[in-house]
Amino acid sequence: MSMMLVPLELSALAARCGWLSPELAVGWRLARQAMDFFDGLDQVRIAATGYADTINALRALARYPKQGDVIIPSRPVPWDILFFHRITGTVLKVVLIRKHITLPQELLCIVDDLPHCSPESLCRYQEILDALVHGIIRDDLERFCHITEIRCRVLSPAAVQTPHSCPWCQSHNPPALFDQDGRICCPACSVLGLLWQTDQAFQR
Ligand SMILES: [Zn+2]
Repeated sequence: MSMMLVPLELSALAARCGWLSPELAVGWRLARQAMDFFDGLDQVRIAATGYADTINALRALARYPKQGDVIIPSRPVPWDILFFHRITGTVLKVVLIRKHITLPQELLCIVDDLPHCSPESLCRYQEILDALVHGIIRDDLERFCHITEIRCRVLSPAAVQTPHSCPWCQSHNPPALFDQDGRICCPACSVLGLLWQTDQAFQR
């Protein structure tokens, strides 16, 4: 048996999900990272796409607007996870490095047929899984993801010199304009995209 020590919270999460996968560990680790960065997740909107286990882990820690709420984008987006702190307008954009998260292909076949595996391949499977999960829990985050910090401030509609169209997509009278890291753009052109609209709809 593996002697790896897993943080209690992640271990409880794994028990609930049925198993401890690298993807689950990634979701837990990143939610913890955001929690430290924003001093809690009470005002943090989370959006995620991709691995079901990662999304499940994020749901377990999501607090805003209510417990377990994670937005799943309805169309492809160029990121894996967004953490949006509503108060400061700070966004953490996460892009996962997939080859450092998923098990090698030959091991994935083993997962599908665990009861019929030889003790040797089971042992090898366990070792590699342990090493992968262990690394995700403890290594530098940069090893398995890229995190970009973006400032996304909503400009007040009354602000002087605010253009009435988005300089990027030219859409007229967008519902709002953002100052994203010093550049003005509409919600759709911003990193938040539809996430912002969903958030507005929720507040109404
Ligand atoms: Zn635009």
